[in-house]
Amino acid sequence: MKIPHIKVTPPGPKAKAIVERDRCYTSQSYGRVYPLVVKEARGCVVEDVDGNLFLDFMAGIAVASTGHSHPEVVKAIEEQARKFLHICGSDFYYEPMAELAAKLSEIAPGKGAKRVFFTNSGTETIEAAIKLARYHTKRQHIIAFHGAFHGRSLGSLSLTASRTSHRAHFGPLIPGVHHMPYGFCRRCPYHLTYGSCEIECVRVLEKTLFRHDVAPQEVAALFVEPIQGEGGYVVPPPEYLPMLQDLCRRHGILLVVDEIQSGFGRTGKMFACEHWGIEPDILCAAKGIASGMPLGAMIAREEISTWTRSTHGSTFGGNPVACAAALATIALIEDGLIENAAKVGSYLMEKLNLLKAGHSSIGDVRGLGLMIGVEFARPDEKLTPDAKLRDQVMQKCFEKGLLLLSCGESTLRFCPPLIVTREEVDVAIEIFAAAIKELVN
Ligand code: PLP
Repeated sequence: MKIPHIKVTPPGPKAKAIVERDRCYTSQSYGRVYPLVVKEARGCVVEDVDGNLFLDFMAGIAVASTGHSHPEVVKAIEEQARKFLHICGSDFYYEPMAELAAKLSEIAPGKGAKRVFFTNSGTETIEAAIKLARYHTKRQHIIAFHGAFHGRSLGSLSLTASRTSHRAHFGPLIPGVHHMPYGFCRRCPYHLTYGSCEIECVRVLEKTLFRHDVAPQEVAALFVEPIQGEGGYVVPPPEYLPMLQDLCRRHGILLVVDEIQSGFGRTGKMFACEHWGIEPDILCAAKGIASGMPLGAMIAREEISTWTRSTHGSTFGGNPVACAAALATIALIEDGLIENAAKVGSYLMEKLNLLKAGHSSIGDVRGLGLMIGVEFARPDEKLTPDAKLRDQVMQKCFEKGLLLLSCGESTLRFCPPLIVTREEVDVAIEIFAAAIKELVN
């Protein structure tokens, strides 16, 4: 059957009934985007409860890296589930956890030995990184960036600064966190132009932050996303991450790279920071690591992983079924999905740029591999973000059978499973273009 296939404009009757039931009992805090009610999902195709078939270009927020329910991943899950589901990896031992730790140590950037701490989510991974950074350095302060999303628990939320609604009324958050503007050239906070700016967004740390707010000797770690995710799929200028790394090294500050969204092949390399030759002290991973099973991993250089027995742990972190899924996922990613992300990603980028050339409502197309953002903005001097149009386009695409997700002020992210084909890109572009055409005349 041709994909997508819309039998009844979503939400259909069955979807509506489930949404209604859900509304009565689940927390109102969830930020539900549109009424997609899933029955099954396979590869890049999601079927809803009314029999509509959608083309998935959001992969459950960049999580279904190998596609939905990849047979190899399902097989690994089934085999492990038949053996045992849980034994608590913080207290005891099992092979999938040891194997996965060895694999992650091998594939994470940097030559030296590494240590892996397992969690159930991105948030908990960041939480572990905050704790290890403070423990190891005996310093308290942390630097993070405007636009960053690092999680929602009180520690990780203290580093998150993408939307004030994430933080409102939850304070006080942890003290000693300093937010600085990210390297976002299109919306440069210093109103400078790349090429003549001397990368002011990095220099300002030494010029201002370390001069007026906090001495560098008091800073434990700098947390940075190599490409900002929730913040709007923002790719920093080429010098940005190497300069941050250099600054951290000079001041004994740990460089913590949050690869929770950008990792595991998504950008056309195993980890996005490899595009800039960065070697983090701590790398935080989750989302795509296990194709949808809940798992996170904090990968720290051996020299800084100095915490001792029983200082940190988790009942579920490193669950054996999730570890088995991760081993199968990584094998698939290494066996061609990184190359596919690079190849099909540049094809998608090319197509989106062609679309941008013919639509003044598209302000920017940016990204790497299969992590691409399309920003909607007015063609005025201020490049005024057009969130309303972005939301309308997302909704229209949903009705036509294409799943997309918003991020930043007015951006739509394209982050399909890494198995996506050029033919599927052609279909997605056709729907996306038609949606824009219907909304903008
Ligand atoms: N860090 C980044 C870069 C993320 O994109 C996210 C989630 O979107 C998180 C951390 C938090 O991960 P989780 O939602 O699994 O707790």
